[in-house]
Amino acid sequence: MAKKNFQTALIHSAYQAPEGFDAFPVGIHHASTVLFKNVAAMRARNWQEKSGYTYGLHGTPTSFTLEARLAEIEGGRHCLLAPSGLAAITMVDLALLKSGDDVLLPDNVYNPNRDLGNWLARDFGISARYYDPLIGAGIAALIQPNTRLIWTEAPGSVSMEMPDIPAICQAAHARNVLVAIDNTWSAGLALRAFDLGADIIMHALTKYQSGGSDVLMGAVITRDDALNQRLQTAHMRLGLGVGMDDVYLVLRSLPTMQMRFAAHDAAARQVAAWLKQRPEISLVLHPAFPDCPGHEIWQRDCNGAAGLFSVVFDERYSEEQTDRFVDSLQLFKIGYSWGGANSLCVPYRIQGMRQNWQGKGILVRFNIGLEDVQDLIADIEQALAVM
Ligand SMILES: *Cc1c(COP(=O)(O)O)cnc(C)c1O
Repeated sequence: MAKKNFQTALIHSAYQAPEGFDAFPVGIHHASTVLFKNVAAMRARNWQEKSGYTYGLHGTPTSFTLEARLAEIEGGRHCLLAPSGLAAITMVDLALLKSGDDVLLPDNVYNPNRDLGNWLARDFGISARYYDPLIGAGIAALIQPNTRLIWTEAPGSVSMEMPDIPAICQAAHARNVLVAIDNTWSAGLALRAFDLGADIIMHALTKYQSGGSDVLMGAVITRDDALNQRLQTAHMRLGLGVGMDDVYLVLRSLPTMQMRFAAHDAAARQVAAWLKQRPEISLVLHPAFPDCPGHEIWQRDCNGAAGLFSVVFDERYSEEQTDRFVDSLQLFKIGYSWGGANSLCVPYRIQGMRQNWQGKGILVRFNIGLEDVQDLIADIEQALAVM
């Protein structure tokens, strides 16, 4: 059959149901022990090749199916699952860095990734340095002979600057440095990271792939066999197993992911546009809006946006007032993570999180869920009035 439309491919995958039990859902296969017919069969099976099943930690038909689907979505060849997005990040660092090496991270990187970098630097003899997310080709000047890995995140967490991934990849590859992207925001839908040059794509499946606010899981996707083997060895050494019931929940959500993503995107742009014309708000940090640093790069490299954005309140509002705003919201709940049906709102003390933050007002991040947009806007309007 000809290459399928993306939405069709999300629904029709290569999954083979057991003989005599043809149905759409993928079976949930639990196992620690996997049985072999005889000693020769046991010796012939290799966990690294994934040509067969060897031990529950290395996967069952359920997790192999999710890995294959995630690799297909990104246009990759290999996928490894981890018990959280953060565990996937840790696996990448421990697979590719050793004492004496250097890693570069954007100043707006997901904060626990920054904390990991600082830990590696403090206790493991690895240097971790932070770069301006808008550095682009200028990253060449920061690459040292011992630099092994550059992390990117598009857009960066909370402050939402959009990096020039192709320029960073070009500079990195000229010096044989690998580029990993935290592609959680785009779910692999709005930004095609391999096409832009990334070597390693990491996802927090906790967000849109799950969509249920109920699963923690991560993934690392690659195209290169040798690179995958390095990651897979770290995955094994760290013992990163995932629960098959959770894997099933992600498989169950994948067919609707593109439609959910489009709905989050459309609603977020409507809410952001409404906030943009409010006198209380000085900046709307959404990649599709010109206030957002790197907006032109988003226009060039992305095909859509997630349901996530931040606003900076006018500096005449104190933190006490913006906290009152957040506390007065009724439909928007206060909580971390995103990607589910419920809208969320979190205020951040961004000054303490960045090396060079110029903004003056208080930053508040919104995750737009799947509620009615007019209800969400009415909720924000009444909370602004209370503030
Ligand atoms: C949520 C998130 C993670 C971590 O995912 P967990 O599954 O919560 O560990 C990593 N990166 C980004 C950008 C995220 O938003």
